[in-house]
Amino acid sequence: MAAKCAAITLGGAPCKGLVRPGNDYCPAHDPGRQEARRRAASRAGRSKPGRELTEAKRDILDVIKGVREESIERPVGAVVFQGYNTFLKALDVERRWRENEELGRELEELRELVERDAGRGEARRAPWGA
Ligand SMILES: [Zn+2]
Repeated sequence: MAAKCAAITLGGAPCKGLVRPGNDYCPAHDPGRQEARRRAASRAGRSKPGRELTEAKRDILDVIKGVREESIERPVGAVVFQGYNTFLKALDVERRWRENEELGRELEELRELVERDAGRGEARRAPWGA
């Protein structure tokens, strides 16, 4: 006996997605799976810039220390800090770009779900050979 997905689609109709044994929702609507997917996407978006940011902070502190202790000349320190400013701006741009990409992916998933549902309705109204 094939169970039906418990979700309601964006169009307001019950989802006709197939449900795996032991689940209440189809893979597209499974809340546990969506949460896992969101966590994975979030982790992927955070890991590399997070590591770079940690390294940058440590390097910046080293340069501040070097300038204070006069092992790094002030003009050199100033240029290095300009470089870090640019680098941190690039990280921020990268972060926003990743967020946009993630939103785009989610929008694409929603669009596919809507189109799939619309396609099913069409098939019912106009079957092959009609
Ligand atoms: Zn569903």
